[in-house]
Amino acid sequence: MKVNFDTYEEYLFERYGEWADGQSLFMKLVEEMGEIAEVLNCKAGRKSAGDKDLDAELGAELADAIHYIIAIAAVNNIDLNKTIIEKDKLGSVKYGHKINLEGFIKKKENSV
Ligand SMILES: [Mg+2]
Repeated sequence: MKVNFDTYEEYLFERYGEWADGQSLFMKLVEEMGEIAEVLNCKAGRKSAGDKDLDAELGAELADAIHYIIAIAAVNNIDLNKTIIEKDKLGSVKYGHKINLEGFIKKKENSV
């Protein structure tokens, strides 16, 4: 099963849309960013990790952060899928990339 932004946004809008605002979700995102920093500190040896599986921990914390990023988009009615494509297109031009995300997706779709 693959997750897509549109479905994830709809799902999180159902969860948060009635009561949450972007600011409260942003505070949760900041908490999650701290948890990502803690795992990265453990991976770099700056903090004791015990017997934790740090790759699994990092994946879980990244998933938490993505959850709140998408939730913020959902409660603000932002079409994140469209915005990511447009933003990547601008960045690709600005930084002179050979291919942008839209082109990459089309290339992948045509190769199947
Ligand atoms: Mg977390």
